[in-house]
Amino acid sequence: MLTRRRFLSVAAAGAATLTRLPEFPRLHAAEYDLLIRGGRVMDPSRKFDQVADVAIRGGRIAAVQPNIAASTAAETMDAAGKLVVPGLIDIHTHAGREKEDADLCLADGVTSLVDAGSQGSDRIDEVVAIAKAAPTRMRVLINIGKKGIIPEGDLMDIANVDIAATRAAIERHRDVVVGIKARLSKNVAGANDLEALRRAQSVARPLGVSIMIHMGQTVSALPDILALLKPGDIVTHVYAPPPNGIFDDASAGSGQARLVPAVADARKRGIWFDFGNGRVDHFTWASVEQGVNARVFPDTISTDWGQAARTDQVFNFATVLSKFLMLGMPLDRVIACATSNAAATFPAFKGLGTVRAGSTADLAILDLQQGSFEFEDNYKGKRTGRLKLVAAGAVFAGKLRKA
Ligand SMILES: [Zn+2]
Repeated sequence: MLTRRRFLSVAAAGAATLTRLPEFPRLHAAEYDLLIRGGRVMDPSRKFDQVADVAIRGGRIAAVQPNIAASTAAETMDAAGKLVVPGLIDIHTHAGREKEDADLCLADGVTSLVDAGSQGSDRIDEVVAIAKAAPTRMRVLINIGKKGIIPEGDLMDIANVDIAATRAAIERHRDVVVGIKARLSKNVAGANDLEALRRAQSVARPLGVSIMIHMGQTVSALPDILALLKPGDIVTHVYAPPPNGIFDDASAGSGQARLVPAVADARKRGIWFDFGNGRVDHFTWASVEQGVNARVFPDTISTDWGQAARTDQVFNFATVLSKFLMLGMPLDRVIACATSNAAATFPAFKGLGTVRAGSTADLAILDLQQGSFEFEDNYKGKRTGRLKLVAAGAVFAGKLRKA
């Protein structure tokens, strides 16, 4: 069978023969806009893992196959020895605070991201404006606390939950605001955790948007919180240390940690569990190890990134992913958590997280380095790993952004 491209060239040759066209200078555009050559293309969404070239045209992937001639592309990047994976999708960041944030993330291989609750209804327009101007695909979760993240705790005063204003803000920005964030730890919500979540759902359910909650160290028991979630909602900081982590408090840290049954239940109901690295109180090496050893992997891995995290603990998405390699999670599973799984969490990311002909040309080019690398948890615990992913570039909608 003739491919379309081959058919066109055969047809063109036939036409030339028939009409004896004179030789014109070759001014026609290259067949592809961009060619990423010779990388190890890994697309966990279709269990694809082989050395290939990725050809891009018009913002979409045109072909994934070995040995595409460099002369067919206007621009090429040599990715030999590197991983070429779907553009990373970071569903928990605070990249909506500064206007340059999204570009910094793009250099880290992040082509789609979510600002998770930096602002509430009082100042949502500011973060929406930043998202709209971002050089990547950026979406926003509105904090159910109208003042956003505040030092005294977003939800300590339940009067900070303004249902009408939150609903109006989402309706005003349906294209950008894709859900609601509720930070529920004791130092953020006090005893208001369940009531704040109920009110958040009273806005989210009728509008059909998700809620992302921040679990761990809550006043209320985790099963009571999970009972208020609906399919598609997201629980971030899955490995938060006790109290009210995913392993029951009495057994947490022992050799026989027992997963809270409501967590397994929630997963069956279609609730996502996200890592959310962050910098304060979200994980210890022991708490992550307990999860990974019990094969309770996160559905998605995210950074909880902000500019302060660029030089502390988090650094960038590839560094966060490297921590899971150190803990023994397989590479393709780690990549899935940052690509295909993450793409499934919000409708805005539908169709992303894959590298196949016809899909949006979002890619991350990563260098998998070997050596001795130190990583830190949220409590200054240090571990040394032998592998580290380092971003070497990104392609967003067909455009190359070098690291
Ligand atoms: Zn956060």
